[in-house]
Amino acid sequence: MVKASLYKKTGEDAVCLVCERTCRISPNLYGVCGNYRNVGGELFHAGYGILSAIESRPIEIKPFFHYWPNSTALTFSGYGCNFYCPWCQNSHISFSKPPIGAKPTPPETLVEMALRNRDEGLCASFNEPATLFDYLLDVFELGSKRGLYGTLVTNGYFTERAIEMLIGAGADGFSIDIKGCPSARGALTTIDHLKVFRNARKILDLGGHVEMVYLVVTGYNDSRECAEWILEKHLEYLGPETPIHINRYYPANYWKEPPTPLSKLLEFREIALKMGIEYVYIGNVGYPDLEDTKCPKCGKTLIRRRSYRVTYYKLDGESCPRCGYGIKLRGEIS
Ligand code: SF4
Repeated sequence: MVKASLYKKTGEDAVCLVCERTCRISPNLYGVCGNYRNVGGELFHAGYGILSAIESRPIEIKPFFHYWPNSTALTFSGYGCNFYCPWCQNSHISFSKPPIGAKPTPPETLVEMALRNRDEGLCASFNEPATLFDYLLDVFELGSKRGLYGTLVTNGYFTERAIEMLIGAGADGFSIDIKGCPSARGALTTIDHLKVFRNARKILDLGGHVEMVYLVVTGYNDSRECAEWILEKHLEYLGPETPIHINRYYPANYWKEPPTPLSKLLEFREIALKMGIEYVYIGNVGYPDLEDTKCPKCGKTLIRRRSYRVTYYKLDGESCPRCGYGIKLRGEIS
């Protein structure tokens, strides 16, 4: 176990400051996510480098559509989660513990693997990266020294200090899942969803790249009221240029409601576009046109994607070749 870098002591207890759960952990116990343990009044990262998967994947699958398009990232995950989403697509790792005797993968090994694979970057995904915090600091720092970008697919519930440390270590791409809104019922009722927008804003202010994901879960966050709240906060906190992916949910884990109807996703996309959000995508539906990047001003198709790969692009530097409108993009198109 590695000593945790972000906690405070309160008597014999340790308060983990990695995420906004801020678990107060008594000696010999773990926090909610099962990865940080109080040993003798100090906090240790028990999950440091204990990985459940390592796989090279297209950046578009995260989804990132405006960040190093068509690149691949060596993607890795740990175990556990700080949220308990009943529809979790990865419950086999998010709601489980590592096998007994699991050994950590050193950051050097991960970075070497990415370089050998010719991946352009690294991505903490599949389960919530807050579970790997101290490991991420080491992996991203080493990766950025070797020319690899650092990204996370996250529920965005980090503390502000944790965000600062991640960016300081070299992470600069955040795909953030906004799970709900104040009126959503039936799950995640203790989560303050505004903190997710606060963090996304902070990442932008610190020079990072953000793409938001709104998984429209039937019977949870799929009311028009909820959609309008999410889209209004998106615009208020992140502005019109930050992309949003409005994605279809499928039944998983123990949430058995039917998949999101396409008509609802299209309705929410219309609301977002009318509000002025410039890049609105619909995912998980199998209609590639809904994943094209179009110029927000003249409507020209600028980037086309099929099966999470870029199949066509036409840009004049960072502008639309037809009308000259500036297009938000981080990194080059591979
Ligand atoms: S990272 Fe885990 S232990 Fe730390 S505050 Fe969040 S849920 Fe609790």
